[in-house]
Amino acid sequence: MGTYAITGSASGIGAAVRRLLEDQGHRVVGVDLADAEVTADLSGPAGRAAAVAGVLDASGGRLDGLVTAAGLGPPRPAEAILRVNHQGSVAILEGLRPALAAAGSAQAVQIGSNATTTTPGIPDDVVEALLDGDEDLAVERLAPLPAEFAPSLAYGASKTAVTRWCRRAAVTEAWVGAGIRLNVLAPGAVRTPLLQAGMDDPLYGPLIRSFEIPVGEPATAEEMAAWVVFLLSPVARYACGSMIVVDGGSSARLRADDWPRTFQL
Ligand code: NAD
Repeated sequence: MGTYAITGSASGIGAAVRRLLEDQGHRVVGVDLADAEVTADLSGPAGRAAAVAGVLDASGGRLDGLVTAAGLGPPRPAEAILRVNHQGSVAILEGLRPALAAAGSAQAVQIGSNATTTTPGIPDDVVEALLDGDEDLAVERLAPLPAEFAPSLAYGASKTAVTRWCRRAAVTEAWVGAGIRLNVLAPGAVRTPLLQAGMDDPLYGPLIRSFEIPVGEPATAEEMAAWVVFLLSPVARYACGSMIVVDGGSSARLRADDWPRTFQL
């Protein structure tokens, strides 16, 4: 049986992944603000370093898989969303890469979002700063955005950057060359405390409710966790640098013809 690390293991999708893996007999090292084997705040460098050290210690430096599910969404403050969702995922992946490589064959899944394909006006300069590894500049670049929509634009930017980071890194020697498959699962609306906080907000609640979900009700955390566990399994070894959108049809309804996009040589 394997050893898996999960950030955001105390709630929602991360907690559901934990339950599924434990039911299969695997060992899980959870990372979260509380109620986890490793308690750490992933919003800044010190907490991220502590999380990496804690997981290395608890796992003996060898991991079969890693899921970065810790995240914040609107209406939480834009800066916190940006820091936790992007660098709070990337720094953990980079810090734990040697432990994944030590397993010989490993799978890593980042939780992205269909916000990347359905949020209009995501600021490219914020995405670029995140991809350049300069999260302070990215935070600075949030300042001119309209205050009420900054959390949602920061959310879209953080998830776009996470997804592009995955696609760039996945195919390199450091990742696929070391036997580590890296992919992004991009859910649409999932019934978790994060979604509920958005629905309870006077500004974001009506926006979330007006969003079309062709299959009907939002997903459950368990449904989403099953996709994550599939991506963690050996049979998913051919997925590499993929963004798998599981969103009840929302982005297909909104932008059916926008991709795949043709290109000419
Ligand atoms: P959730 O709120 O139930 O769980 C998120 C977990 O992350 C919590 O346990 C929380 O304590 C932890 N976390 C937050 N900030 C942290 C920090 N600074 N340090 C350490 N841990 C921290 O939410 P969820 O819906 O299960 O979200 C999981 C992931 O799925 C997130 O990345 C989210 O963006 C993504 N997602 C969720 C939805 C949705 O509709 N619920 C849709 C698309 C993507």
